[in-house]
Amino acid sequence: MPHIAIIGAGITGVTTAYELIKQGFSVTVFEKNLYPAMETSFANGGQLSACNAEVWNQKSTIVKGIKWMSQKNAPLLLNPSFNMHKYTWLVAFLNNIKNYEKNTIETVRLALDSRKHMFAIADQEGFDFNLKKKGILHFYHTAKDFEVAKNVNALLNRGGLERYGVTPEEIKAIEPTLTGDYFGGFFTPDDATGDIHKFTRGLATVCEKRGVKFCFGANVLKINPALDRVEILYNQQNPKHQIEQAAETSVFDGVVICGGVNSYHLGDQLGDKINIYPVKGYSITVNLKDERSVKNAPWVSLLDESAKIVTSRLGVDRFRVAGTAEFNGYNKDIRNDRIQPLIDWVNKNFDIATDSVVSWAGLRPMMPDMMPRVQRSKQARVFYNTGHGHLGFTLSAATAVMISHEIQRALVA
Ligand SMILES: Cc1cc2nc3c(=O)[nH]c(=O)nc-3n(C[C@H](O)[C@H](O)[C@H](O)COP(=O)(O)OP(=O)(O)OC[C@H]3O[C@@H](n4cnc5c(N)ncnc54)[C@H](O)[C@@H]3O)c2cc1C
Repeated sequence: MPHIAIIGAGITGVTTAYELIKQGFSVTVFEKNLYPAMETSFANGGQLSACNAEVWNQKSTIVKGIKWMSQKNAPLLLNPSFNMHKYTWLVAFLNNIKNYEKNTIETVRLALDSRKHMFAIADQEGFDFNLKKKGILHFYHTAKDFEVAKNVNALLNRGGLERYGVTPEEIKAIEPTLTGDYFGGFFTPDDATGDIHKFTRGLATVCEKRGVKFCFGANVLKINPALDRVEILYNQQNPKHQIEQAAETSVFDGVVICGGVNSYHLGDQLGDKINIYPVKGYSITVNLKDERSVKNAPWVSLLDESAKIVTSRLGVDRFRVAGTAEFNGYNKDIRNDRIQPLIDWVNKNFDIATDSVVSWAGLRPMMPDMMPRVQRSKQARVFYNTGHGHLGFTLSAATAVMISHEIQRALVA
């Protein structure tokens, strides 16, 4: 069977490795970090959320972005300084408003398919990643927001999702720890949550046992495709040795690019336009250290539509809260003025202590139509499984199966 290289050991790379090794391919994964899941798949919102499949391509997103430009704590921030990549991406985003309905429905279908695969992996492989199947509850603060949400819900239902409206009383019955006032909500009973980092690392261990080779600390510099092979030129970095190692080349039958936000640059080298822009987000992980906090933190996953905040309970003693979208290049600095609104939100909605909080920032690999790229390159033997934006945890289990079938068709059949 062919030997396939994968670039990137985030959720997309590791799920791809898993599918390919199951189908009998030889697989080598190149990852520039020393461990899997150290970039965007590190501390995300934790939701496996078909219910969050709505694409953002709406005029209202842009209007909000412009309105919030001067508010440092707004959920959506656009740095207006000129950058060609950012502005061509924004134009392409606007051009996809016409595909809003179609792409939302397609994303729901993909997410439902992915849910099946994800639960099957959890059952078959049995490692712990704090999987919790307790549903996801969206809540809304105003009649206006709730009205808009009804239209979105109709679209999600058309994609096959079971999701229904709930009253303020029902919200409190579904998640009794909530202490705020809410106008109404929608509940998706079959969505779930888990720890993406634990999942990716757990699955990487399974892959290794099945024969996948991982090259950590290996920064891929160049991909040289040919009709009968692909050469991967990489630098093996070892932080213990200060001396720069000479670049090495390995030869494969094919390569899958799963490089998160860097897939844009890798694609560029190959003449493929994989127009991923890094959309920055933040999370906090609240350590639940006392009995009161353990008792008063929610188990049902939440999505506060106006604050654009998602939550997940990761085991007894951790509560993850994530949100915000920033168009500000590749910068991963953790800004206090973006973290504080997440902490304030926890204090407003729950009776739990926020004296022990771990902050994180990551870059969503976002395509302008918000649809992942699961496809062949213009170049022979090169494939992409990337660009999963705000839904990489939710969609990867399905796109890994899709790309492995594509590789079968191209290199084996
Ligand atoms: C704040 C926030 C909250 C989120 N919440 C959710 C959520 O609740 N649910 C959900 O489904 N999704 C969520 N997401 C999105 C999800 O986390 C991402 O879509 C997903 O992690 C992307 O995975 P990836 O494999 O594409 O990228 P990554 O995890 O970034 O992996 C790419 C890997 O490729 C490696 N790489 C790149 N270039 C090279 C090279 N040249 N050589 C070697 N290695 C290379 C990188 O080092 C990296 O490890 C959230 C994202 C953020 C930022």
